[in-house]
Amino acid sequence: MSVWTQASNIVKPRAGGTGKLFVLLAPDSTKFVRPATRPFSKTGNSQLSSTISQTTSTETDNAHETDPKPMSQSEQSKFDYDLFVIGTGPGGEGAAMQAAKGGWRVGVAERYQQIGGGCTHWGTIPSKALRYAVTSTMRSLKNPVMRELGYTIAPSMEQLGRGTQTIIGRQVSMRQSFYDRNNVPIHRGQARFIDEHTVRIDDGETVTAAHFVIATGSRPYRPSNVDFSHPRVYDSDTILGMQERPASITVYGAGVIGTEYASMFRNLGIKVNLINTRGQLLEFLDDEIIDALSYHLRDQGVIIRHNEYIDRLEPHDDGVVLYLKSGKALKTDAFLWANGRQGNTDDLGLQNLPIEANSRGQIDVDEQFQTCLPHIYAVGDVIGIPSLASAAYTQGRAAGMHMLGQCSGNLSLHDIPTGIYTSPEISSVGATEKELTAQCVPYEVGQAQFRSLARAQITGETVGMLKLLFHRETKRVLGVHCFGANASEIVHIGQAIMNQPDEHNTIEYFIETTFNYPTMAEAYRVAALNGINRLF
Ligand SMILES: Cc1cc2nc3c(=O)[nH]c(=O)nc-3n(C[C@H](O)[C@H](O)[C@H](O)COP(=O)(O)OP(=O)(O)OC[C@H]3O[C@@H](n4cnc5c(N)ncnc54)[C@H](O)[C@@H]3O)c2cc1C
Repeated sequence: MSVWTQASNIVKPRAGGTGKLFVLLAPDSTKFVRPATRPFSKTGNSQLSSTISQTTSTETDNAHETDPKPMSQSEQSKFDYDLFVIGTGPGGEGAAMQAAKGGWRVGVAERYQQIGGGCTHWGTIPSKALRYAVTSTMRSLKNPVMRELGYTIAPSMEQLGRGTQTIIGRQVSMRQSFYDRNNVPIHRGQARFIDEHTVRIDDGETVTAAHFVIATGSRPYRPSNVDFSHPRVYDSDTILGMQERPASITVYGAGVIGTEYASMFRNLGIKVNLINTRGQLLEFLDDEIIDALSYHLRDQGVIIRHNEYIDRLEPHDDGVVLYLKSGKALKTDAFLWANGRQGNTDDLGLQNLPIEANSRGQIDVDEQFQTCLPHIYAVGDVIGIPSLASAAYTQGRAAGMHMLGQCSGNLSLHDIPTGIYTSPEISSVGATEKELTAQCVPYEVGQAQFRSLARAQITGETVGMLKLLFHRETKRVLGVHCFGANASEIVHIGQAIMNQPDEHNTIEYFIETTFNYPTMAEAYRVAALNGINRLF
């Protein structure tokens, strides 16, 4: 039996994300591939929101038959490079390394002073490093022994962020070594297309290439009615430079970035307003997980307001006042705008190509990450959702493999898990209950509460739950949803089983397997037993 279901594990709508992706879920098969059709268009944002169909490996191979004839080696040798990649974030790195390992002459361009992309300098790495600094420091300060010793200090943002620079430095030097070892030169400066095979770096050198990968990432969307030059007004890039710890902050936008920062600020003891333009937090998650997140954020003291929209923002010397369309006014020490992102395409010379970006600066690609010019690929945030470092890297590798003529069939391009680093942490992969119910899939649920696990009792991290969704008849695992400490690690055990061939991808595995004791992984056995006991 096959059913269509919206796959929220693939489409992860961060704030401002658009489009939905549908996947054909069949309990009796495991592989998902993109359709052979090329859904790009100059005007529509079809990109990955195309229909994904499930098919056999034979059909997968047929999909490649529609690809244009690859360039011959002698044709390629006329260019400076076989592949030139624009951007050194995870998307660009994935593509560059894949092609270099395949023996191609690869060069990259990077306009920032260091490689690594927004991921390393403004996004994933600094935000997760800061989160670790905040949670570990606050946990230590809450320790009764520390209290007894009289430690009641309140670390400044500058102190908490200090370690981040060390981690960024390590990331940059490690990633630089990848380029060095694989003989991939880095051209420093802004790359702009001047024709279909040539880019100019800043106003100087020109570089020609047989193929290109656009991996230029994204930046926070900045509406014109918000004064980002005011020292109390931040976006997700500038927040990393915050020196003083405000007593209160309003976070506008309750997507992943907004919710993560709201949670982090609250952990620091800052009063937080979280303004959500939608009716629920992170609607793409499983309902029970959304409820748990809302409960715990509120329990910690975050004031969440749903279905609210900015009317105007007035920054003053003593605080920022957010006026909402509903008539409410909120005054806090600082304001973080976390509502939407914009693809970095505005200064890329696209006007010299038939490629057009949409109103969010995103580029349409087909199932192989090719733009309307088959030798120019685009990957990562610049193509829109899911806008994750994890996905960008896989997409870059897939693009690299495709241009090398290799099949990317084994790359899990659509099996993208969600990892949200709030407190509690959240992670999920596969279908939600909402989706399975809408599609009338006969599923059952198995749950394990962290508080019943010995490991959680020992560490004190008892807030959390693992939830397995499985097919009543085949017992195939259809979805894994987790919140609580280390959820983003725990989910991968379930993901590994979900991706096994039929008969090996069932909850029986968790029942029959001996887990280390005490571990958090044991939650899988508890949840599987809980679920199987519901069957009749
Ligand atoms: C606060 C925050 C937290 C996040 N947390 C997570 C997380 O926990 N997990 C996760 O998976 N993802 C997370 N993300 C998302 C993740 O950072 C992005 O999805 C990822 O960085 C996208 O990679 P990319 O290669 O597409 O682009 P980027 O990493 O943005 O790299 C693009 C690079 O291209 C360069 N560039 C742009 N234009 C040009 C040009 N014309 N010429 C030369 N160079 C150019 C830029 O300088 C940049 O270095 C987070 C993002 C933010 C903002």
